[in-house]
Amino acid sequence: MNHENLIACHECDALFRKPRLEGKSSAHCRRCGALLYRSASRQLDGICALTLACLFTFVIAQGFPILELETGGMTSRTSLIGALATLWTSDMRIVAAMVFCSTALFPLTELAALLYVLVAIRQGYVPPGFNRVLRAIQFVRPWGMIEVFMLGVLITIVKMVSLARVIPEAALFAFGALTLMLVLVVMFDPRTLWDMADEIKARRGAIGAHARRGSLHKKRATS
Ligand SMILES: [Zn+2]
Repeated sequence: MNHENLIACHECDALFRKPRLEGKSSAHCRRCGALLYRSASRQLDGICALTLACLFTFVIAQGFPILELETGGMTSRTSLIGALATLWTSDMRIVAAMVFCSTALFPLTELAALLYVLVAIRQGYVPPGFNRVLRAIQFVRPWGMIEVFMLGVLITIVKMVSLARVIPEAALFAFGALTLMLVLVVMFDPRTLWDMADEIKARRGAIGAHARRGSLHKKRATS
C-alpha cells in the first residue's frame, strides 16, 4: 500500500486516498466535512504575492533607520547596516558576520529563490536548476532569524527608554511586518512545488509524445 498517497482527517481521523486536485478546488472530509487540503495552485497565487511583499518590506527594513535616540541634546540614528559596520569596526567581526547572515543574507536568499521558482511554476514551466534552488531554500530556512533580531530590538528599546528618548523609525515597522509575513511564508512547504513540477513535466511529456506521433502520421501520409 502506498502510504504517501493517503491523508487523514484532522477532525475525525478518517483515512482517504489523496486525489490530485485540479484548478482552485479543495478537498473536504466525507464524514465530518472538515477541510483536508487545498489545491497547490490555490496556495500558489497567495504565496507568490506574499513573497513579493516580503522582498519590498525587506528592502525598506535594510535601507532605512531602525531607531533614533535623543539624549542631552544629541541625536543618533542607526540602521541595520550601520549597526553591522559598527560591530565590524569594533573588532566584533564574527558577531557582525553572524548577524549579517541571519538577518540579511539568508532571508534574502530564501525570498529570492522562492520567488524564482514560484513565478516559473505559476507560468507553467520548470525553471533551470529547480532541484538545487529548492534544496537551497530548505538549507537556508532554519538560519534566517529576523524574528530573533526583532525581539532583541524590542528588548533594547524597553531598556533604553529610561536613558534616552527613543523614536521608532520606518525600518522598525518594516521589520515587524516582515516578521509576521515570514511566519506565513515559512508555513508554505516547498515540497509542494516538487509535486507541481512533476505534474508539469508529465504534461509536457504527454504533449511532446502526442506531437511526435502526429508528425509521424503526417510523414507516412505524404510518402
Ligand atoms: Zn473528518
